[in-house]
Amino acid sequence: MSSRGGPASRRCAGKRADGSPCRGWAKRGVDPPLCGPHSGRAGPPVGNRNAYKHGCYARPTRDLTRIEEVVSDLADRQAQLTAYLEARLADGAEVKEVARLFALHGQNASRLGRLLRDQRALSGDSADGLLRAIGQALDELSTELGIEL
Ligand SMILES: [Zn+2]
Repeated sequence: MSSRGGPASRRCAGKRADGSPCRGWAKRGVDPPLCGPHSGRAGPPVGNRNAYKHGCYARPTRDLTRIEEVVSDLADRQAQLTAYLEARLADGAEVKEVARLFALHGQNASRLGRLLRDQRALSGDSADGLLRAIGQALDELSTELGIEL
């Protein structure tokens, strides 16, 4: 065990509701040492990739304030998920896992489709080309895998 700063400094300096010391593990990089709830920084540290699989549920890496950004973020995730799905299939993943991934893939595809329609309605630009491309990609994947998407 390394003891940077000694073990005491790794414990939360906050107090519980009853006034007793919290003593929970302090979050890394928080000064004074405070645990997740006491520092207001519950959850994994920024950039943490524990349990990262396909990135579909990962926090967005940029501000999503415009529909174009949301569409592009979701499209990136869909591409990551497709790559992950293909890799899992190549590895001989279990049917149950593959089915779950396909369900997520399908949900994303339908979200993406709705967003693209919204985007087209808002901007007046035609997103037909992109929609066609996504539809075609799903058809090809579906044919290749023999599964209805
Ligand atoms: Zn605490």
